[in-house]
Amino acid sequence: MSKVKEELRGAIKGRVLATKDSGYEEARQVWNAMIDRRPAVIVQCVQADDVPPAISFARKNRLELSIRGGGHNIGGYALCDNGVTIDFSRMRKVRVDAEKRRAYVEPGATLADLDEATQAHGLAMPVGINSTTGIAGLTLGGGFGWLTRKYGMTIDNLVSVDVVTAEGKKIRASANENGDLFWAVRGGGGNFGVVTQFEFQLFPIGPEIVAGLIVFPFNQAKQILTKYRQFVDSAPEELNVWVVLRKAPPLPFLPETVHGREVVVLPVFYCGAVAEADKLIAPLRDFGTPLGEHIGPQPYVQWQKAFDPLLTPGARNYWKSHNFTELADGALNSAIEFAGKLPSPQCEIFIGLIAGAPNRVAPNAMAYGHRDARFVLNVHGRWDEAADDEKGIGWAREFFKASAPYASAGAYVNFMTAEEGDRVAAAYGSNYERLVEIKRRYDPENVFHFNQNIKP
Ligand SMILES: Cc1cc2nc3c(=O)[nH]c(=O)nc-3n(C[C@H](O)[C@H](O)[C@H](O)COP(=O)(O)OP(=O)(O)OC[C@H]3O[C@@H](n4cnc5c(N)ncnc54)[C@H](O)[C@@H]3O)c2cc1C
Repeated sequence: MSKVKEELRGAIKGRVLATKDSGYEEARQVWNAMIDRRPAVIVQCVQADDVPPAISFARKNRLELSIRGGGHNIGGYALCDNGVTIDFSRMRKVRVDAEKRRAYVEPGATLADLDEATQAHGLAMPVGINSTTGIAGLTLGGGFGWLTRKYGMTIDNLVSVDVVTAEGKKIRASANENGDLFWAVRGGGGNFGVVTQFEFQLFPIGPEIVAGLIVFPFNQAKQILTKYRQFVDSAPEELNVWVVLRKAPPLPFLPETVHGREVVVLPVFYCGAVAEADKLIAPLRDFGTPLGEHIGPQPYVQWQKAFDPLLTPGARNYWKSHNFTELADGALNSAIEFAGKLPSPQCEIFIGLIAGAPNRVAPNAMAYGHRDARFVLNVHGRWDEAADDEKGIGWAREFFKASAPYASAGAYVNFMTAEEGDRVAAAYGSNYERLVEIKRRYDPENVFHFNQNIKP
């Protein structure tokens, strides 16, 4: 390994970690504890110029290559075994141009990094719901969260990317430059190159929004979900309401007798005028007999971290996901059935609402094409012990199968596990062929294949 270090260290300003170096073990941890990979070398970049030598080293030595943004990918694609990992955890800067309403984001930035920097100017953009997620992977696969109904997918707000190609060339892609590459990276994941900077457009948000949870008894689930389905059809896009079916965490606003029991949770988010929130949220309480609620004005950045305690790193996670245009009765019934047999207290079924701005974009406007999707279902299997893998994975797969007949076509690549490679073409639907063409142009040798791979 000393040869490795010598060769790379000379070319790289950041750190090059081989297996025995101090810091290596820490650097190979990712969010999902099921992933236990050991790259031969981890290149912790501190500048875009560190990327070309890392790619060229991997190619010359015929080593596997992986790219790490925030390390949250459920399939663990951030890390490869015995290869080179390009690690951006030391490149997390976010620069905001408040006048132009633009953010310039390094590829290791987390959602928290972005939210904090943009909210300092009263600005934000749609990202996910867990603040430790990486902007890079989230964006390259699509990205949705509380602001998505109003302002679209994360990818809808991308203005440009700086990319290092398989040949080690640094190029920019935007609507005006390398438009085909820009089309492909907006949903096509890390298949086309290594992104070293993202430029996003921003919107005025908060800094106070109204948000929180309303919790109902599980035996009212059917009635609540049916009313939810009807409610969201006409709710304004500033208002977002998701559904989470899970066992109640020991939240202080819930009676102790409910802790650890199945419940229906409606997470609520409103980014319009604070004074308007109450009357818009009120009808939700009449969906059933609430067990408790905790809703009120709060800083946007605080709500963006509200789910972090349930999504800490270190647990074993296995996900399955479908998109839905409508929530058919069968879909609701199967969600309720499987929420009634959760294999662990940390497992949950969530339905994210994305109806609104994303549906107004043409399906072929960019690689991410699920413009008919109004809901994203995530079957979130989560537990602590490897001995529980079979039970948890079995539950997630069974529910995935049971709910499949009601799903719309396609899949969200950011929620796909490593074994779902055969779903990639379906995930891109009619955009897949164009993606393959662009892949042939930018990465004919499939250097960037350790991902939900689009084969050249
Ligand atoms: C707890 C949790 C909550 C989540 N919530 C949401 C949510 O609300 N909304 C949502 O849309 N998604 C959500 N996701 C899914 C998330 O979008 C994906 O897991 C995404 O892949 C994470 O990106 P990352 O940079 O953290 O991951 P990584 O594992 O670092 O990277 C993911 C993929 O992107 C590639 N990649 C990373 N950086 C680059 C780069 N600079 N250039 C090229 N390719 C790169 C990697 O090679 C890998 O294939 C969540 C995930 C978790 C674990």
